[in-house]
Amino acid sequence: MSEEHLASFETGLITVDLGQIAANWQALARLVATAECSAVVKADAYGLGASRVVPVLATAGCRTFFVATPGEAREVRALAPAASIFVLDGLFPGAATALSELAATPVLASLDEARDWAAHARSLGRTLPAALNLATGLNRLGLSAREVEMLLADTRTLSALDLGLVMSHLASADDPSDPKNEEQRQAFEALRAVLPRARASLAASDGLMLGPRFHYDLVRPGYALYGGQAFRGGPAPVAPVVSVEARVLQVRDVAPGETVGYSATWTASRPSRIAVIAAGYADGFARGASAPAGREGGLVSLGGRLAPVVGRVSMDLITVDVSDVPGGVRRGDLATLVGPGLTLEAVGQRAGTIGYEVLTRLGRRFERRYVGD
Ligand SMILES: *Cc1c(COP(=O)(O)O)cnc(C)c1O
Repeated sequence: MSEEHLASFETGLITVDLGQIAANWQALARLVATAECSAVVKADAYGLGASRVVPVLATAGCRTFFVATPGEAREVRALAPAASIFVLDGLFPGAATALSELAATPVLASLDEARDWAAHARSLGRTLPAALNLATGLNRLGLSAREVEMLLADTRTLSALDLGLVMSHLASADDPSDPKNEEQRQAFEALRAVLPRARASLAASDGLMLGPRFHYDLVRPGYALYGGQAFRGGPAPVAPVVSVEARVLQVRDVAPGETVGYSATWTASRPSRIAVIAAGYADGFARGASAPAGREGGLVSLGGRLAPVVGRVSMDLITVDVSDVPGGVRRGDLATLVGPGLTLEAVGQRAGTIGYEVLTRLGRRFERRYVGD
Protein backbone atom coordinates (compact mmCIF):
# COMPACT_ATOMS: atom_id res chain seq x y z
CA MET A 1 0.00 0.00 0.00
CA SER A 2 1.11 3.54 -0.58
CA GLU A 3 1.00 6.49 1.76
CA GLU A 4 -1.74 8.32 -0.19
CA HIS A 5 -4.48 7.63 2.36
CA LEU A 6 -2.40 8.83 5.30
CA ALA A 7 -2.35 12.51 6.30
CA SER A 8 1.11 14.02 6.14
CA PHE A 9 1.52 14.26 9.92
CA GLU A 10 0.36 10.74 10.68
CA THR A 11 2.69 7.84 11.36
CA GLY A 12 0.13 5.09 11.10
CA LEU A 13 -3.48 4.25 10.49
CA ILE A 14 -5.98 2.11 12.42
CA THR A 15 -9.01 1.29 10.31
CA VAL A 16 -12.11 0.01 12.09
CA ASP A 17 -14.94 -1.49 10.04
CA LEU A 18 -18.07 -0.62 12.02
CA GLY A 19 -20.31 -2.38 9.52
CA GLN A 20 -18.40 -5.59 10.12
CA ILE A 21 -18.79 -5.22 13.89
CA ALA A 22 -22.56 -4.99 13.35
CA ALA A 23 -22.42 -7.98 10.98
CA ASN A 24 -20.43 -9.98 13.54
CA TRP A 25 -22.99 -9.21 16.25
CA GLN A 26 -25.82 -10.25 13.91
CA ALA A 27 -24.05 -13.49 12.99
CA LEU A 28 -23.56 -14.39 16.66
CA ALA A 29 -27.17 -13.43 17.43
CA ARG A 30 -28.30 -15.83 14.67
CA LEU A 31 -26.01 -18.56 15.98
CA VAL A 32 -27.49 -18.43 19.48
CA ALA A 33 -31.00 -18.27 18.01
CA THR A 34 -33.35 -18.15 20.99
CA ALA A 35 -30.86 -16.69 23.47
CA GLU A 36 -30.31 -12.94 23.60
CA CYS A 37 -26.99 -11.72 22.24
CA SER A 38 -25.55 -8.85 24.27
CA ALA A 39 -22.30 -7.00 23.58
CA VAL A 40 -19.30 -6.60 25.87
CA VAL A 41 -17.89 -3.13 25.29
CA LYS A 42 -15.55 -2.78 28.27
CA ALA A 43 -12.14 -1.15 27.90
CA ASP A 44 -13.47 1.33 25.32
CA ALA A 45 -14.93 -1.48 23.19
CA TYR A 46 -11.67 -3.42 23.41
CA GLY A 47 -9.72 -0.35 22.37
CA LEU A 48 -11.71 0.31 19.20
CA GLY A 49 -13.73 3.24 20.54
CA ALA A 50 -16.99 2.75 22.48
CA SER A 51 -18.30 6.10 21.24
CA ARG A 52 -18.37 4.70 17.70
CA VAL A 53 -19.03 1.04 18.40
CA VAL A 54 -21.95 1.27 20.88
CA PRO A 55 -24.33 3.29 18.65
CA VAL A 56 -23.65 0.92 15.74
CA LEU A 57 -24.45 -2.13 17.87
CA ALA A 58 -27.57 -0.47 19.29
CA THR A 59 -28.77 0.27 15.75
CA ALA A 60 -28.06 -3.35 14.78
CA GLY A 61 -30.49 -4.42 17.52
CA CYS A 62 -28.29 -4.99 20.57
CA ARG A 63 -30.23 -4.10 23.72
CA THR A 64 -27.84 -5.21 26.47
CA PHE A 65 -24.28 -4.01 27.08
CA PHE A 66 -21.67 -5.20 29.55
CA VAL A 67 -18.92 -2.90 30.78
CA ALA A 68 -16.26 -3.39 33.44
CA THR A 69 -16.45 -0.17 35.44
CA PRO A 70 -18.88 2.52 36.59
CA GLY A 71 -17.07 5.06 34.39
CA GLU A 72 -17.65 2.88 31.36
CA ALA A 73 -21.30 2.49 32.36
CA ARG A 74 -21.66 6.27 32.35
CA GLU A 75 -20.17 6.50 28.88
CA VAL A 76 -22.38 3.74 27.49
CA ARG A 77 -25.52 5.18 29.10
CA ALA A 78 -24.95 8.43 27.19
CA LEU A 79 -24.57 6.46 23.96
CA ALA A 80 -27.42 4.00 24.45
CA PRO A 81 -30.11 5.69 26.59
CA ALA A 82 -32.57 2.78 26.44
CA ALA A 83 -30.14 -0.13 26.81
CA SER A 84 -29.65 -2.48 29.76
CA ILE A 85 -26.16 -1.96 31.15
CA PHE A 86 -24.37 -4.41 33.42
CA VAL A 87 -21.16 -3.60 35.30
CA LEU A 88 -18.90 -6.67 35.44
CA ASP A 89 -16.56 -5.38 38.15
CA GLY A 90 -19.57 -5.34 40.46
CA LEU A 91 -20.34 -2.75 43.11
CA PHE A 92 -17.43 -0.62 44.28
CA PRO A 93 -17.76 0.75 47.83
CA GLY A 94 -19.64 4.04 47.56
CA ALA A 95 -20.69 3.55 43.93
CA ALA A 96 -24.31 2.54 44.54
CA THR A 97 -25.82 6.01 44.10
CA ALA A 98 -23.94 6.65 40.88
CA LEU A 99 -24.94 3.28 39.43
CA SER A 100 -28.60 3.54 40.36
CA GLU A 101 -28.76 7.05 38.90
CA LEU A 102 -27.33 5.66 35.67
CA ALA A 103 -29.83 2.80 35.75
CA ALA A 104 -26.83 0.50 35.46
CA THR A 105 -26.92 -2.90 37.14
CA PRO A 106 -23.87 -4.11 39.07
CA VAL A 107 -23.02 -7.77 38.61
CA LEU A 108 -22.84 -8.44 42.35
CA ALA A 109 -19.87 -10.64 43.08
CA SER A 110 -19.93 -11.11 46.85
CA LEU A 111 -22.30 -11.11 49.78
CA ASP A 112 -20.94 -7.70 50.82
CA GLU A 113 -21.81 -6.24 47.44
CA ALA A 114 -25.30 -7.75 47.58
CA ARG A 115 -25.86 -6.27 51.04
CA ASP A 116 -24.59 -2.83 49.98
CA TRP A 117 -26.85 -2.77 46.91
CA ALA A 118 -29.82 -3.94 48.98
CA ALA A 119 -29.15 -1.24 51.59
CA HIS A 120 -29.11 1.34 48.83
CA ALA A 121 -32.41 -0.03 47.50
CA ARG A 122 -33.98 0.28 50.95
CA SER A 123 -32.70 3.86 51.22
CA LEU A 124 -34.51 4.61 47.97
CA GLY A 125 -37.64 2.88 49.22
CA ARG A 126 -37.79 0.43 46.31
CA THR A 127 -36.18 -2.72 44.96
CA LEU A 128 -33.22 -2.43 42.60
CA PRO A 129 -32.42 -4.60 39.59
CA ALA A 130 -29.52 -6.91 40.36
CA ALA A 131 -27.34 -9.47 38.67
CA LEU A 132 -25.37 -12.10 40.54
CA ASN A 133 -21.99 -13.45 39.58
CA LEU A 134 -21.66 -17.09 40.69
CA ALA A 135 -18.25 -18.66 41.29
CA THR A 136 -18.07 -21.93 39.37
CA GLY A 137 -14.34 -22.52 39.06
CA LEU A 138 -12.57 -19.45 37.72
CA ASN A 139 -11.99 -18.13 41.25
CA ARG A 140 -12.01 -14.56 40.15
CA LEU A 141 -15.24 -12.72 40.98
CA GLY A 142 -18.42 -14.35 42.19
CA LEU A 143 -20.37 -15.79 45.12
CA SER A 144 -19.24 -19.19 46.33
CA ALA A 145 -21.79 -21.91 47.09
CA ARG A 146 -21.48 -21.00 50.76
CA GLU A 147 -22.12 -17.31 50.06
CA VAL A 148 -25.17 -18.26 47.99
CA GLU A 149 -26.51 -20.16 51.00
CA MET A 150 -25.90 -17.17 53.25
CA LEU A 151 -27.64 -14.90 50.76
CA LEU A 152 -30.65 -17.22 50.66
CA ALA A 153 -30.86 -17.04 54.43
CA ASP A 154 -30.68 -13.23 54.30
CA THR A 155 -34.24 -12.41 53.32
CA ARG A 156 -33.78 -8.73 54.17
CA THR A 157 -31.16 -8.48 51.42
CA LEU A 158 -32.93 -10.74 48.94
CA SER A 159 -36.23 -8.95 49.27
CA ALA A 160 -34.63 -5.61 48.35
CA LEU A 161 -33.21 -6.98 45.10
CA ASP A 162 -34.99 -7.63 41.84
CA LEU A 163 -32.76 -10.47 40.64
CA GLY A 164 -32.84 -10.29 36.84
CA LEU A 165 -29.73 -12.21 35.87
CA VAL A 166 -27.45 -14.88 37.29
CA MET A 167 -24.19 -15.42 35.49
CA SER A 168 -20.82 -17.07 35.64
CA HIS A 169 -17.69 -17.08 33.50
CA LEU A 170 -15.80 -20.02 31.98
CA ALA A 171 -12.09 -20.55 32.53
CA SER A 172 -11.24 -22.68 29.49
CA ALA A 173 -13.95 -22.06 26.91
CA ASP A 174 -11.38 -21.65 24.12
CA ASP A 175 -10.66 -25.38 24.40
CA PRO A 176 -13.79 -27.44 23.69
CA SER A 177 -12.08 -30.63 24.87
CA ASP A 178 -11.43 -29.28 28.36
CA PRO A 179 -13.66 -31.09 30.91
CA LYS A 180 -13.66 -27.91 33.01
CA ASN A 181 -16.31 -26.44 30.68
CA GLU A 182 -18.90 -29.07 31.59
CA GLU A 183 -17.83 -29.04 35.26
CA GLN A 184 -18.46 -25.32 35.44
CA ARG A 185 -21.76 -25.67 33.60
CA GLN A 186 -22.96 -28.19 36.18
CA ALA A 187 -21.77 -26.05 39.07
CA PHE A 188 -23.72 -23.16 37.50
CA GLU A 189 -26.83 -25.35 37.22
CA ALA A 190 -26.58 -26.35 40.87
CA LEU A 191 -26.23 -22.77 42.11
CA ARG A 192 -28.92 -21.23 40.00
CA ALA A 193 -31.35 -24.03 40.95
CA VAL A 194 -31.43 -22.83 44.56
CA LEU A 195 -31.71 -19.12 43.73
CA PRO A 196 -34.89 -17.24 42.83
CA ARG A 197 -35.76 -17.66 39.17
CA ALA A 198 -33.76 -15.30 36.93
CA ARG A 199 -32.35 -15.21 33.44
CA ALA A 200 -29.04 -17.05 33.13
CA SER A 201 -25.79 -16.33 31.27
CA LEU A 202 -22.62 -18.40 31.10
CA ALA A 203 -21.02 -17.89 27.69
CA ALA A 204 -18.69 -15.24 26.29
CA SER A 205 -17.26 -15.40 22.73
CA ASP A 206 -15.75 -18.85 23.12
CA GLY A 207 -18.43 -20.27 25.40
CA LEU A 208 -21.15 -19.63 22.85
CA MET A 209 -19.16 -21.76 20.39
CA LEU A 210 -19.45 -24.73 22.79
CA GLY A 211 -23.05 -25.27 21.70
CA PRO A 212 -26.63 -24.56 22.82
CA ARG A 213 -26.19 -26.11 26.27
CA PHE A 214 -23.95 -23.16 27.10
CA HIS A 215 -26.20 -20.43 25.67
CA TYR A 216 -28.86 -20.17 28.39
CA ASP A 217 -30.89 -16.93 28.11
CA LEU A 218 -28.15 -14.50 27.21
CA VAL A 219 -24.62 -14.69 25.77
CA ARG A 220 -21.89 -12.10 26.35
CA PRO A 221 -19.47 -11.91 23.44
CA GLY A 222 -16.76 -9.27 23.33
CA TYR A 223 -13.67 -10.36 21.44
CA ALA A 224 -15.57 -12.14 18.64
CA LEU A 225 -17.53 -8.96 17.87
CA TYR A 226 -14.20 -7.32 17.09
CA GLY A 227 -13.20 -10.17 14.78
CA GLY A 228 -11.30 -12.24 17.32
CA GLN A 229 -10.97 -15.98 16.82
CA ALA A 230 -9.73 -17.38 20.10
CA PHE A 231 -11.89 -20.54 20.01
CA ARG A 232 -9.74 -23.54 19.13
CA GLY A 233 -12.57 -25.83 18.08
CA GLY A 234 -13.23 -24.10 14.74
CA PRO A 235 -13.90 -20.65 13.32
CA ALA A 236 -16.56 -18.40 14.83
CA PRO A 237 -18.89 -16.90 12.16
CA VAL A 238 -17.18 -13.52 12.35
CA ALA A 239 -14.68 -11.61 10.20
CA PRO A 240 -11.87 -9.19 11.04
CA VAL A 241 -12.82 -5.57 11.69
CA VAL A 242 -9.51 -3.86 12.35
CA SER A 243 -6.37 -3.24 10.36
CA VAL A 244 -3.25 -1.37 11.42
CA GLU A 245 -0.70 0.13 9.06
CA ALA A 246 2.39 2.26 9.63
CA ARG A 247 4.78 4.28 7.54
CA VAL A 248 8.21 3.16 6.37
CA LEU A 249 10.54 6.04 7.34
CA GLN A 250 13.65 4.78 5.62
CA VAL A 251 15.30 1.69 4.20
CA ARG A 252 18.95 1.12 5.03
CA ASP A 253 21.61 -1.32 3.99
CA VAL A 254 23.30 -3.23 6.78
CA ALA A 255 26.50 -5.17 6.15
CA PRO A 256 27.18 -8.66 7.56
CA GLY A 257 28.43 -8.38 11.14
CA GLU A 258 26.64 -5.09 11.83
CA THR A 259 23.98 -5.00 14.54
CA VAL A 260 20.51 -3.44 14.62
CA GLY A 261 18.74 -1.76 17.51
CA TYR A 262 19.13 -1.28 21.26
CA SER A 263 21.53 -3.62 23.04
CA ALA A 264 22.66 -4.88 19.62
CA THR A 265 20.63 -8.06 19.93
CA TRP A 266 20.49 -8.81 16.19
CA THR A 267 23.48 -9.19 13.91
CA ALA A 268 23.20 -9.28 10.12
CA SER A 269 24.49 -12.55 8.71
CA ARG A 270 24.21 -11.34 5.11
CA PRO A 271 23.97 -8.00 3.35
CA SER A 272 20.52 -6.89 4.55
CA ARG A 273 17.90 -4.31 3.69
CA ILE A 274 16.32 -3.00 6.87
CA ALA A 275 13.07 -1.00 6.79
CA VAL A 276 12.64 1.37 9.71
CA ILE A 277 8.91 1.70 10.44
CA ALA A 278 7.17 4.37 12.53
CA ALA A 279 5.52 2.01 15.00
CA GLY A 280 6.74 1.08 18.44
CA TYR A 281 5.49 -0.11 21.77
CA ALA A 282 3.91 3.31 22.35
CA ASP A 283 1.67 2.46 19.39
CA GLY A 284 0.80 -0.95 20.79
CA PHE A 285 3.41 -2.88 18.85
CA ALA A 286 4.42 -5.12 21.75
CA ARG A 287 8.04 -5.08 22.82
CA GLY A 288 7.67 -8.83 23.21
CA ALA A 289 7.78 -9.02 19.41
CA SER A 290 11.49 -8.13 19.49
CA ALA A 291 13.78 -10.65 17.81
CA PRO A 292 15.76 -12.45 18.87
CA ALA A 293 14.06 -12.81 22.24
CA GLY A 294 14.26 -16.53 22.66
CA ARG A 295 11.64 -17.05 19.97
CA GLU A 296 10.72 -15.75 16.55
CA GLY A 297 9.70 -12.13 16.74
CA GLY A 298 6.93 -10.18 15.10
CA LEU A 299 6.07 -9.98 11.44
CA VAL A 300 4.81 -7.16 9.28
CA SER A 301 3.42 -7.34 5.76
CA LEU A 302 4.99 -5.29 2.98
CA GLY A 303 4.15 -5.64 -0.67
CA GLY A 304 2.06 -8.70 0.17
CA ARG A 305 5.04 -10.45 1.75
CA LEU A 306 5.61 -11.12 5.45
CA ALA A 307 8.90 -9.72 6.76
CA PRO A 308 10.42 -10.33 10.22
CA VAL A 309 11.11 -7.76 12.91
CA VAL A 310 14.82 -7.77 13.74
CA GLY A 311 16.35 -6.37 16.92
CA ARG A 312 14.44 -4.70 19.72
CA VAL A 313 11.08 -3.01 19.34
CA SER A 314 11.57 0.50 20.64
CA MET A 315 9.08 3.17 21.70
CA ASP A 316 8.51 4.73 18.29
CA LEU A 317 10.25 2.46 15.81
CA ILE A 318 10.65 -1.09 14.63
CA THR A 319 13.27 -2.48 12.28
CA VAL A 320 12.25 -5.11 9.74
CA ASP A 321 14.38 -7.25 7.44
CA VAL A 322 12.92 -6.64 4.00
CA SER A 323 15.80 -8.18 2.02
CA ASP A 324 13.43 -10.82 0.61
CA VAL A 325 10.51 -8.55 -0.30
CA PRO A 326 10.26 -8.73 -4.10
CA GLY A 327 10.26 -5.33 -5.77
CA GLY A 328 11.76 -3.77 -2.68
CA VAL A 329 10.40 -1.35 -0.14
CA ARG A 330 10.57 2.43 -0.30
CA ARG A 331 10.35 5.36 2.05
CA GLY A 332 6.66 6.25 2.46
CA ASP A 333 5.33 2.74 1.86
CA LEU A 334 2.82 1.48 4.39
CA ALA A 335 3.53 -1.71 6.30
CA THR A 336 0.59 -3.75 7.57
CA LEU A 337 0.93 -4.66 11.25
CA VAL A 338 -2.54 -6.18 11.71
CA GLY A 339 -4.63 -7.13 8.69
CA PRO A 340 -4.72 -9.64 5.84
CA GLY A 341 -2.26 -12.42 6.65
CA LEU A 342 -1.68 -11.01 10.14
CA THR A 343 -4.59 -11.94 12.38
CA LEU A 344 -4.86 -10.63 15.93
CA GLU A 345 -4.07 -14.15 17.14
CA ALA A 346 -0.95 -14.49 14.98
CA VAL A 347 0.31 -11.05 16.00
CA GLY A 348 -0.31 -11.84 19.67
CA GLN A 349 1.40 -15.19 19.49
CA ARG A 350 4.51 -13.70 17.88
CA ALA A 351 4.65 -11.14 20.69
CA GLY A 352 4.24 -13.67 23.47
CA THR A 353 0.70 -12.53 24.25
CA ILE A 354 -2.87 -12.92 22.99
CA GLY A 355 -4.96 -11.13 20.39
CA TYR A 356 -7.07 -9.55 23.15
CA GLU A 357 -4.04 -7.68 24.42
CA VAL A 358 -3.01 -6.62 20.92
CA LEU A 359 -6.48 -5.16 20.39
CA THR A 360 -6.85 -3.37 23.73
CA ARG A 361 -3.36 -1.85 23.53
CA LEU A 362 -3.61 -0.25 20.12
CA GLY A 363 -2.04 3.14 20.69
CA ARG A 364 -3.55 6.60 20.61
CA ARG A 365 -0.94 8.03 18.27
CA PHE A 366 -2.07 6.51 15.00
CA GLU A 367 -4.82 8.07 12.94
CA ARG A 368 -8.12 6.23 13.41
CA ARG A 369 -10.51 5.84 10.56
CA TYR A 370 -13.98 4.38 10.91
CA VAL A 371 -15.58 2.85 7.81
CA GLY A 372 -18.83 1.01 7.08
CA ASP A 373 -21.02 3.08 9.41
C1 LIG B 1 -14.64 -9.78 29.21
C2 LIG B 1 -15.76 -10.66 29.62
C3 LIG B 1 -16.63 -11.19 28.66
C4 LIG B 1 -16.35 -11.11 27.18
O1 LIG B 1 -15.34 -12.03 26.90
P1 LIG B 1 -14.84 -12.31 25.40
O2 LIG B 1 -13.93 -13.47 25.54
O3 LIG B 1 -14.15 -11.08 24.96
O4 LIG B 1 -16.05 -12.61 24.59
C5 LIG B 1 -17.74 -11.87 29.11
N1 LIG B 1 -17.97 -12.05 30.43
C6 LIG B 1 -17.13 -11.60 31.38
C7 LIG B 1 -17.42 -11.87 32.82
C8 LIG B 1 -15.98 -10.90 31.01
O5 LIG B 1 -15.13 -10.45 31.94
